[in-house]
Amino acid sequence: ISYADVTKVEDVKALYQPNTRMVFTETVANPVTQVADVRSIGQFCAEKNVVFFLDNTMTPPPLFDAKQTGASLVVSSLTKYISGHGNVLGGVVVDLGNYDWTGYPNIADFYKVAEKTQWGLTQIKKKGLRDIGGTLAPGSAHAIATGLETLAMRMERNCHNAMELATFLHNHPKIAHVYYPGLVGHEQHFLARDIMNKGYGAILSLDLVEGLDVNTFLNALSLVISATHLGDNRTLALPVASTIFYENGPEERAKMGISDGMIRLSVGIEDTEDLIKDFDQALAQCGN
Ligand SMILES: *Cc1c(COP(=O)(O)O)cnc(C)c1O
Repeated sequence: ISYADVTKVEDVKALYQPNTRMVFTETVANPVTQVADVRSIGQFCAEKNVVFFLDNTMTPPPLFDAKQTGASLVVSSLTKYISGHGNVLGGVVVDLGNYDWTGYPNIADFYKVAEKTQWGLTQIKKKGLRDIGGTLAPGSAHAIATGLETLAMRMERNCHNAMELATFLHNHPKIAHVYYPGLVGHEQHFLARDIMNKGYGAILSLDLVEGLDVNTFLNALSLVISATHLGDNRTLALPVASTIFYENGPEERAKMGISDGMIRLSVGIEDTEDLIKDFDQALAQCGN
């Protein structure tokens, strides 16, 4: 495995080797919200006939159309936006039909019986579902299916709230930096504008100005919940350095652009004014 900076297709191209079989990337990375250059990577993968595998958890439909990037396979957590209510676990692999599996070197002969575009998924089903047992419980499937009915409406609201909140925080004197693809100052803002419909997603991160205490701020929030999950109807806030990236240690965190004062927000569907008021009062209680 080689690790590329997927915001730059040149970096992916530079790491390509004759035995490369797959390029895997998320659409938007967590927590610093870098946006992958998915169109250019898709074109490159098509030229080289390698599988382009996208993790689309952060930008579910209708926010982003994975098929038009030429992606072969898409994986998405169903636990997050797609179910939306934080009450179920699940995941999905989708074959978008863009990849010609006939040349792929590792498909077992007895999975080469279905329609050619289905070979990859057939093997994934046999090995993932049948051999390993990754099967969704019926109750979970039901919760996901009912959540899915409102996905498009929820995403519009999630994105709207995220944009409003990002703008408010960006202009607040106690916030040193906001990472959100919807802000013009974001490094991949124009790339995000090009590939996303109807909004820029609902994950954003912020750095408090130096000297302000992350936990004081989090404890002062009343509507917003401190939790590690994302893609929920409720707005969730997470101190990043002390939780999900704790084990990486300070040096690696610094390389990843993760400060000790960074907080990740997964913006929900609450009333926009209520949400901004909650951040406003919590920041007022924090430092001076
Ligand atoms: C959470 C997450 C996953 C894993 O999903 P689970 O449903 O929690 O197993 C995969 N990819 C991304 C980008 C995620 O945020």
